[in-house]
Amino acid sequence: MPTTRRQFIHDVALGTTAFGMGLPLLPKTKDRLGVALVGLGYYSRDLLAPALQLTKSCYLAGIVTGNSQKADEWMKKYKIPAKNVYNYQNFDELAKNPDIDVVYVVLPNHLHREYTERAARAGKHVWCEKPMAPTAADCEAMIKVCKDNKVSLSIGYRMQHEPNTQELIRFGRQKTYGKVKMLTASAGFVAGDSISQAWRGKQSMGGGALFDMGVYSLNAARYAIGEEPVAVSAQKFTTRPAVFKEVDETTLFTLEFPGGAVAQCSTSLGINMNTLHVTAEKGWYRLEPFQSYNGIMGSTSDGKLLNIKTENQQALQMDNDSKAIMAGKAPLVPGEEGWKDIKVVEAIFKSVALEGKRISI
Ligand code: NDP
Repeated sequence: MPTTRRQFIHDVALGTTAFGMGLPLLPKTKDRLGVALVGLGYYSRDLLAPALQLTKSCYLAGIVTGNSQKADEWMKKYKIPAKNVYNYQNFDELAKNPDIDVVYVVLPNHLHREYTERAARAGKHVWCEKPMAPTAADCEAMIKVCKDNKVSLSIGYRMQHEPNTQELIRFGRQKTYGKVKMLTASAGFVAGDSISQAWRGKQSMGGGALFDMGVYSLNAARYAIGEEPVAVSAQKFTTRPAVFKEVDETTLFTLEFPGGAVAQCSTSLGINMNTLHVTAEKGWYRLEPFQSYNGIMGSTSDGKLLNIKTENQQALQMDNDSKAIMAGKAPLVPGEEGWKDIKVVEAIFKSVALEGKRISI
């Protein structure tokens, strides 16, 4: 933040202030943002940390972990100085660390709100993994605390940064194939039986298929149609009741959109599926796979191939989000985008509980 009136006027003259966007000004000396990953589990370890070795606008500056052995390993592997290593108790001390500009919350879903709020209060920009949080009320609170503390908030919906997906979104916006009439989106994988013991198998921790994979189908329906659904009907089943005792294994949901389009979506932790197919007035277009980490590809009814290669989706996402912060611009996938999905997720759960009753949103 500028500390003097003279500095402020200087920044305005240079056009470097981001006050108009409600975002804080970053020190002008930084050309790359320092990112701290919070929660060193599968996604941080296998995808985000390697991607942060490829990013140009940000780098892995710090870590937050509850496991001291992991802390030691990561410090050695990524040359992270001890002063940039935190645990969940001293997390708030991040506020005093100028090396960390962005806190990336990669924790079990029920912890997204707490760590987003604490990061924002520490004055750090926040990237939060999908699904944003278990309830729409959580999401609203997260958006508010980031606004109040003038930090950016974006959700880790990596597909929206992916170029073939962006082409599909353009088809919808520009009505290249006419108005979208029907869409099917399916996202699922076969989780091992051990999921019953992990947070993904626990209701209180934001587990289950809809939160984990269903948000890909739902988000795709919303970005491909470009409208917000007005009603939903949903049902669920499980092929392994002994494993999925608390959370949904497979959920099917139908979304109705104000322009008349209907989306039939499915998600599962017991079935492999990864398809997005859009039928419009004058043709169709599809991606398969549509939500994998790489190899997103597809085709259209008039013979176009959608096969732009991306070196690394997560690096692309984090570079885009860093550039937006440094330019004082809103991120491509702001908190509001995660919130819109969770409002629909709540309606889906309600419909399931009422045995498929149509719920207005
Ligand atoms: P993991 O279970 O592999 O890792 C979560 C980490 O959170 C743990 O290793 C632990 O790290 C930390 N943690 C803190 N408190 C708890 C707790 N009470 N129980 C369990 N872990 C805890 O999860 P993932 O990495 O697979 O998922 C994390 C988030 O990332 C989720 O929100 C998920 O939806 C999202 N994700 C997104 C993907 C995408 O493509 N965008 C892909 C995969 C996941 P430590 O030991 O360091 O404290």
